[in-house]
Amino acid sequence: MLEKCPRHALFQPRIQFWAKNRSKWRSPNGAICIKYFIQSPLIKKSILALTPDFPYFSSMKKIPLILILAFGPLFSFAQQKLNKDEQKLIELIDKNYQETVALLEEVININSGSLNKEGVREVGRVFEREFHKIGFQTEWVEVPAEVNRAGHFVATRKGNKGKKLFLIGHIDTVFEKDMPFTPFTWLNDSTATGQGANDMKGGDVLVFASLKALHELGMLDDRTVTVYFMGDEESSGDNELSRRDFIERSKSHDIALGYETAQGFNTVTVARRGSSGWTLKTSGRQSHSSGVFREGVGYGAIYEAARILTEFQEELAGEQYLTFNPGQIIGGSDISYDKITGKGEALGKTNIVAREAYVTGDLRFLGEEQKERTRAKMQEIVDRNLNQTDAEITFRDGIPSMSPREENYELAAILNQVSLDMGLGEVKPGDPGSRGAADIAYVADILPGLDGLGASGRGAHAPGETINMKQFPDLIKRNTILLYRLTR
Ligand SMILES: [Zn+2]
Repeated sequence: MLEKCPRHALFQPRIQFWAKNRSKWRSPNGAICIKYFIQSPLIKKSILALTPDFPYFSSMKKIPLILILAFGPLFSFAQQKLNKDEQKLIELIDKNYQETVALLEEVININSGSLNKEGVREVGRVFEREFHKIGFQTEWVEVPAEVNRAGHFVATRKGNKGKKLFLIGHIDTVFEKDMPFTPFTWLNDSTATGQGANDMKGGDVLVFASLKALHELGMLDDRTVTVYFMGDEESSGDNELSRRDFIERSKSHDIALGYETAQGFNTVTVARRGSSGWTLKTSGRQSHSSGVFREGVGYGAIYEAARILTEFQEELAGEQYLTFNPGQIIGGSDISYDKITGKGEALGKTNIVAREAYVTGDLRFLGEEQKERTRAKMQEIVDRNLNQTDAEITFRDGIPSMSPREENYELAAILNQVSLDMGLGEVKPGDPGSRGAADIAYVADILPGLDGLGASGRGAHAPGETINMKQFPDLIKRNTILLYRLTR
């Protein structure tokens, strides 16, 4: 069992039987740090007594040798399950770690709200600079003018060995320039905050750190890796136009990996729900309220909208992976609605049977079949009009879902093995219902894939979003070993 020494950030075997009352050697989770243990006068003395002319205590640098001699059998290092290349990668991630954190800080400190085109482009330039250093070709993919977004960052290298990887991130955040700015800030030794820290500049930097280590050890030679960092994931100007290049490029790869927020060490995303939108318009006969329900007056637009929403809920709610939510309703004798700002107005009186109502909502689903079946059922409900009313529903496609393909579970099993070999515990496929829509879904029918391989943290999309900096280095290491194994 390996634990991390909080003082040294090193993995240490757990030898609790000696450590029971030696609080200064112990981390809060009960493991002890060998370095502290050896330095303690009692242990030092007894080892010296056993090996009187053993010279190694003169220098702490020589400690590793005596550790191996004295405690060899205790070193059931899980890392022994990693091969030599993999162990070198782990060491290199540690060696490069300060630079990794500096890069994270640099990109977080550039505001890149989806609508801040210059900011998104600027983050792209930072990654251009860095990916050039590790042998990638980079390119900025412009999107058509009507999309009104910055475009996307792409870094590639091509080769003939191993699986061809398509790695997905996004460099925009939900935090626009006019919102209060939060720079990268350490909150304590294991948590930092900053705009987009875990959603998902942490994930972007994690991908880079992995590829850098692999490159520095020559392990990316003759391999195909495309890194695609979207510039408008959080607010896409036009899903179809903006994702065309992304979908096209994915086709020459074997596996897609998404670096959206990780849910700790033990869960990986093999499926995500898709999202789409709908709008419902109802109309009624405007009349005096005293006649409502009468044959010639009918129910009015608001009762009709209420009936439809109630029947949606009664007849469709509760199905696994399916949700639909009316987010806004406007009704009265005269209404207006602005699609761009999302603002609506209604004029009405208590004594008028409503003439129009308007509802906007979303629909989340797993698989096209569920989406289409639900839409058909909603349409059927809409068509059962109350007396003297009419209703019309329109559906809009949003982000498709990532279906749980068999190959995704196979990839999850590979990650699980990596994690076990590193002593980081078992990884299980997460509940598809727990994850929202994400860009990997656009290519989920083309490539097998996994998502949720990025940084962990809390409060994505809210001010004060945090990144778990304690888990960050291990998530980088685990991802690096995963990429290494997939490209052998
Ligand atoms: Zn995200």
